[in-house]
Amino acid sequence: MNVIEHPASALHFPALQPPKRYLFGPGPTMVDPRVYAALSKPIVGHLDAYFIQIMSDVQQLVKMVYGANEASTLVISGTGSAGMEAAISNFVEPGSKFAVFANGYFSDRLTEMAKRHGANIVRFEKAWGEVYSDAEARDFIRREKPQVVAFVHAETSTGALQQGKAICDAAHEVGALVIGDCVTSLGGIPVNFDETGIDVAYSCTQKGLSCPPGLSPMAISERATTWLRGRTTPPRSWYLDLKLIHDYSTVSHRYHHTAPISMFYALREALMVIAEEGIENRWERHRRANRSFVNGIEAIGLKMHVPAEHRIANLSTVKVPEGVDEAKVRKQLLEGSGIEIAGGFGPLAGKVFRIGIMGPLATEENVQFFLKEFKKALGVQG
Ligand SMILES: *Cc1c(COP(=O)(O)O)cnc(C)c1O
Repeated sequence: MNVIEHPASALHFPALQPPKRYLFGPGPTMVDPRVYAALSKPIVGHLDAYFIQIMSDVQQLVKMVYGANEASTLVISGTGSAGMEAAISNFVEPGSKFAVFANGYFSDRLTEMAKRHGANIVRFEKAWGEVYSDAEARDFIRREKPQVVAFVHAETSTGALQQGKAICDAAHEVGALVIGDCVTSLGGIPVNFDETGIDVAYSCTQKGLSCPPGLSPMAISERATTWLRGRTTPPRSWYLDLKLIHDYSTVSHRYHHTAPISMFYALREALMVIAEEGIENRWERHRRANRSFVNGIEAIGLKMHVPAEHRIANLSTVKVPEGVDEAKVRKQLLEGSGIEIAGGFGPLAGKVFRIGIMGPLATEENVQFFLKEFKKALGVQG
């Protein structure tokens, strides 16, 4: 095509008209209309007193969802992985001993980032879908005596929930800081940041918080803040330097980078939707929807990948029945019913469906709608 001779026609695309989707996958998840409305509000400057107030409101609301009243909170401009990289680059120095509970895809990503930051890595490996008992967690940390420990609270690749209390207690005993990945758990199930003793937590906007992707809310304990103040070398990432971001967002409000204004509007609205429902009511709604979902799945004759006591209420992994091509089921669901779910990957490729029942979808009516369509898709694929 000769773009120079036909510039107008070459660059003409139809108006935006995204297909209607029911986002029953691990994320992005469904967004409340109020959040879309917030996204369309006019922007102001990133140093405007109005925007500074918005950032401050968001920090307060983020404390509420984390259960982090004694911590400081801030929001990274970037998705969950940016929060992960901020945690690693600020708290893992070259040569630091970094211990990771490695039982899924996101603990591998943490490992890879820590490796790139020059950490000395020790991994406690388990199969995807398994979790660590309190005694196992304690023994590992006492034996290794790391400077930083990382675990994934809700491992989205496997559907398994890792409790953090024993990990945090043992880590503090040996003077280590704990990084907790709360990307899928925040807003969907309790994180209890203060009570658990996590030092650095990061999340995203597009999973448990029912907001479009683009920001990573973080919580940082007093202990971690003190450690960071004492750090003598600057982190290798300038953009994700938490001292600089904290200074911009909370202290001097001097320019660091241009915060994505509209996304902050959206996150504030998404968090207000949660605050109005009540965070505990929201968790309970997710638990109820999950019970109903699991009952329905078992009634169809399917099995869950993770034992009941280690499941994540807002993200489930269902075993793919023998002889079923899971990719075809997902295609059928998407094309026939507009429903998006995800498959497994890594060691779980072809073996599980990953299904998120969260935010606005976590109601009895939506669970029954999903089960009906899922059964139909499975039937079509034999
Ligand atoms: C989604 C996810 C991430 C990465 O977040 P992005 O927003 O995709 O960058 C990290 N950890 C866990 C547990 C996740 O589910």
